[in-house]
Amino acid sequence: MEMEEERTEKRTISLIEKLEAQHSLTLAEYEALVGYMVERPVPDSAERFLECKASTGRRTDRAAALLAEKAVAARQQVYGKDVYIRGLIEISNICKNDCYYCGIRRSNRSCERYRLSEQEILECCATGYALGFRTFVLQGGEDAHFSDEVVCRLIGQIKKNHPDCAVTLSLGERSRESYQRMYDAGADRYLLRHETADKAHYEKLHPPQMSFDNRMRCLRDLKEIGYQVGCGFMVGSPYQTVQTISEDLKFIEEFRPDMCGIGPFVPHQATPFAKESAGTVELTCYLLSIIRLIHPNVLLPSTTALGTIDPQGREKGILSGANVVMPNLSPVSVRKKYELYDNKICTGEESAQCRHCLEQRMESIGYHVVTARGDVKEWRDS
Ligand code: SAH
Repeated sequence: MEMEEERTEKRTISLIEKLEAQHSLTLAEYEALVGYMVERPVPDSAERFLECKASTGRRTDRAAALLAEKAVAARQQVYGKDVYIRGLIEISNICKNDCYYCGIRRSNRSCERYRLSEQEILECCATGYALGFRTFVLQGGEDAHFSDEVVCRLIGQIKKNHPDCAVTLSLGERSRESYQRMYDAGADRYLLRHETADKAHYEKLHPPQMSFDNRMRCLRDLKEIGYQVGCGFMVGSPYQTVQTISEDLKFIEEFRPDMCGIGPFVPHQATPFAKESAGTVELTCYLLSIIRLIHPNVLLPSTTALGTIDPQGREKGILSGANVVMPNLSPVSVRKKYELYDNKICTGEESAQCRHCLEQRMESIGYHVVTARGDVKEWRDS
């Protein structure tokens, strides 16, 4: 038994070294690497959708520490101790979709809906600018009010007021033409998590009206148009397995996103997944480290969801290889309403408080929040 364990540990260490050197593993190797951190090893087909939980064994702690050390070194080479900040503006919680995991899904009658006016959004940007933000992320549900015309006008106004800032959009699935128009209007980046790279898993997280193929089509279109693109997924989402996570990693490796958003799944009480358990800090951090080693230059946020399941979550994310934080710039009056999951943090503070709180958190671990657009950096293997 002991010898068996030793062999698995050795194999894991050699996989970590291979990933560090080659930035690529086979699907089977990703399965072995992820499986090491998860209590239930690679499930057979009958158990395909048994839930993944991070193991808390000491052995796995050692692998996680080694992985984090290598990820931090890779990040250090490209970005040093700089942490980029993005001002997140939650422009609407009105959504036509009905994703089973999401608190602002259409069927949630208890969600109090809101939509920010163009004036309010511009005021959030002005407040953010004064606080040192040089990227504004406009995120929202799929709200028909935000037509191409409205969004393009908004982008134009933000760019006119703050020409040195980047505009990132996170407005869900749209047509290629729509993405093109918004790009032509000046949008720089687009965040659209793929949610899972496994089609059967995707169909367990979304109603039949939504399609895996369309989501993937969107990501390809965004890239071809010229956006800096972010994909990503939730860690510990219902029905996720070692195998689906490995597919996510392979997809991330091949798609080469500029940004990658991963955070724990956190249940929301008014969704079909209310009774499911949340993802873990350990597995999320382990995956952040793996993604950093796959793409040393990727922009990798330490997410609010990670800060929600652990008071030190965002610090732990940075110490695992993340290099971006996204404080909230939405008006305090609406923050509680943009509730994707239960107990979301930072819903009470003013933007300035959020900004300074994160700055202190980063300083406390030896990192510095920087005022820069923070575009993706070129990176060459030495
Ligand atoms: N409508 C936009 C923005 C979605 S909200 C879009 O479709 O891209 C941003 C992300 O929050 C989602 O992509 C999802 O991965 C995450 N999210 C939603 N519900 C969540 C939950 N219950 N726990 C953790 N993350 C969640």
